[in-house]
Amino acid sequence: MSFHQNPVALLQKLIRFNTVNPPGDEAGCIDFIKNLLEEAGFETTILAKNPKRPNLVTRLPGTGEAPPFLLYGHIDVVTVGNQEWQYPPFEGLIREGFVWGRGALDMKGPLAMMLTALIRCQTNGYKPKGDLILAVVCDEEDEGLYGADFLTEEHGDLFEGVRYAIGEIGGFSMHVSGQRFYPIMVAEKQKCTLKATIKGPSGHGSLPLRNGAMAKLGILLNNLNSQKLPIHITPVVKRMIEGFASGMSFPANIIVKQLLNPFLADLVIDLLGDNGKFFESVLHHTVNATIVSGGDKINVVPDQITLELDGRLLPGAHPSELIREINRIKGTDIDFEVTTYIPGPGEVDLALFPLLASILKEFDQKAIPVPFLIGGATDARYFSKLGIQTYGFTPMILPQGMDFSKLVHAANERIPVEALEFGVNTICQLFNKYGLN
Ligand SMILES: [Zn+2]
Repeated sequence: MSFHQNPVALLQKLIRFNTVNPPGDEAGCIDFIKNLLEEAGFETTILAKNPKRPNLVTRLPGTGEAPPFLLYGHIDVVTVGNQEWQYPPFEGLIREGFVWGRGALDMKGPLAMMLTALIRCQTNGYKPKGDLILAVVCDEEDEGLYGADFLTEEHGDLFEGVRYAIGEIGGFSMHVSGQRFYPIMVAEKQKCTLKATIKGPSGHGSLPLRNGAMAKLGILLNNLNSQKLPIHITPVVKRMIEGFASGMSFPANIIVKQLLNPFLADLVIDLLGDNGKFFESVLHHTVNATIVSGGDKINVVPDQITLELDGRLLPGAHPSELIREINRIKGTDIDFEVTTYIPGPGEVDLALFPLLASILKEFDQKAIPVPFLIGGATDARYFSKLGIQTYGFTPMILPQGMDFSKLVHAANERIPVEALEFGVNTICQLFNKYGLN
């Protein structure tokens, strides 16, 4: 079978283009996809802020009975530096029932599913209820400035009328307490980086100096380490936790439900150990100190240190809220300023969730789909500016013990061969059912 109909061969081919970002260098891979689509009868549009960093948009016309529907995915990948791989990361080898390589899960595999589903529709002469638009973008693994940001800012007209989209992070199986859950990403946290300038007296390194900038830094870091910011139960996280609890048996279900009790949530998070980290991130604004600069001579006590922090806000929150919360625990006189803030999607529109959930259940009777908030940020934030709600929906059945989140951006990223066909079939079924009511 050619690439046109076979997501496995297509993924192997996509992996062989090295699109590690930076620099990305996605042009060769985009050109390959353009030819693939054109050979299958599609018209394509290439849009680029920088010719080396193109994006591709194509459209399969529908009957017009429903609004257009968007599928999008990024073609760039993250580095493999300092990682030891069992098989080479850019060869797309099939071994032990998996396709191995950087991007197998994030997200050349998912893109191979979308492309194959779309091409099969076209080849079979199928007309969906709404136009199907596919956007293959570059630069997601950085800030999306050449990719989704550029497309939505400069070419928003291409997506006119679109209300819903499918993208990355979701629809894959996750085994918890003997059950098969399928998280579907519907919301993401917002990135908000901060800078603190910490001041104190300067002095000679030979004389003891207390309560200076270094000591204040120490107090702040210690407090950030030992204390959690307040609990916030957002509507999407409530749905998510209820979804997980509903599929679990006693007593796990009762314990997990206590995550919705603001007085017990932090206790349950600690009780859950490593698994609690995820819930900690979706129930709090979080902040991690990441860069410290200050002092350049060994015998001079610096009068100023800057500390940079990676903050992540829950959906709908504003940076001032995070600063207020940090101020409550900082324990010393330090001012914070916001250095970058990229607002994320606001209100979550779950109207398409029941359809996606029903499709997963149709293909896996044991599926328990749950709406999901992710701690990181994806291109969904850019498309949300056009009023588009993204659902993470590139379905794959993963074997028990295989954890999607541990393989993404890590060594030995791989996808089960059969997961690709599973994804294509579920996405084709979405095309069939979209816009029926
Ligand atoms: Zn990704």
